[in-house]
Amino acid sequence: MRSFACGHCDQLVFFENFVCLHCGTPQGFVPERLALVALEGDEAALHRCVNADTAHCNWMVDRVDALCRCCALTRTRPSPDDLEGMQEFALAEAAKRRVVFQLLDLGLPDVDPDRLRFDLLSSTAEPVTTGHADGVITIDLAESDDARRERRRRELGEPYRTMLGHLRHELGHFFQPRLVADDLAWERCRALFGDEREDYQAALERHYEDAAPADWEERFVSAYATMHPWEDWAETFAHYLHIRDTLQTAAEYGVTVHGPRAVMRDRSLKASPQTGAGQRSFAELLENWLPLTYALNAVNRSMGRDDLYPFTLAAPVIDKLSFVHECVLAAGDASSDPPESR
Ligand SMILES: [Zn+2]
Ligand SMILES: [Zn+2]
Ligand SMILES: [Zn+2]
Repeated sequence: MRSFACGHCDQLVFFENFVCLHCGTPQGFVPERLALVALEGDEAALHRCVNADTAHCNWMVDRVDALCRCCALTRTRPSPDDLEGMQEFALAEAAKRRVVFQLLDLGLPDVDPDRLRFDLLSSTAEPVTTGHADGVITIDLAESDDARRERRRRELGEPYRTMLGHLRHELGHFFQPRLVADDLAWERCRALFGDEREDYQAALERHYEDAAPADWEERFVSAYATMHPWEDWAETFAHYLHIRDTLQTAAEYGVTVHGPRAVMRDRSLKASPQTGAGQRSFAELLENWLPLTYALNAVNRSMGRDDLYPFTLAAPVIDKLSFVHECVLAAGDASSDPPESR
């Protein structure tokens, strides 16, 4: 995430803010500019998204009573009299705004309601399965309940489970056919992740009957990624977005890691995340990422919290992440070309 400054007083304001806590000037996020702006002068003519109250949405639109760029992607939500569902809906929309910001920031294609839709469903009345099909991402809103999600996390033996993580995983499914651009790319994809034409239902049943292979950490980013090549891509894509977002945040705040010596002795590790990752190779991002994760995990432990990044990245996983990086950069370049050169 980028850092933002109040357009009125220049103090730090956050992506979620409706108002500058220093000077009181109202703030709103303008997706076309990927900027949080002070709503004064010309900007005072902008309108808040119609979901400002129900989804705590601080995104702006240019006409009254309209949904913003992010809220417009939601096709289904709980009914207004489902109070618990509506609270969970607001939490899910907050996570969704963060990830939609990132998709726009990376220049990824098809982030519009004709192609990408979200069904945010409450599972209090009937079971909901989180998943993706034909451009529709279904989210079980009960996953925004911390106690329930933590229980599921322990049942499934996962080191990490968040709403943001669910969204990034399902978006991985959405983007795979869009980012793996041609036959040659699919060949490379299959060499890394396996053949996605493998029977999914059989793989699913096998996964829940037998545990993941004992040595999964040597080849996969998570146990769930072992289930089917589609899931391996989606888990890897989600990790890629975690890494890019966290590196961007660290860079925006000027976080650099110069020690400890035991880590930095290896001169190949650079620890100053750079802004605007641009065309840097994944290997360069990784040189920033690893020391940062060591430091942030140690900081979290000092506060009695779980590790911020409870994962290890084996060499085959790094190869998969590099491939995702290449695909994302290519798609971002294509969408930032001037129209006449397309
Ligand atoms: Zn201010
Ligand atoms: Zn909105
Ligand atoms: Zn999946």
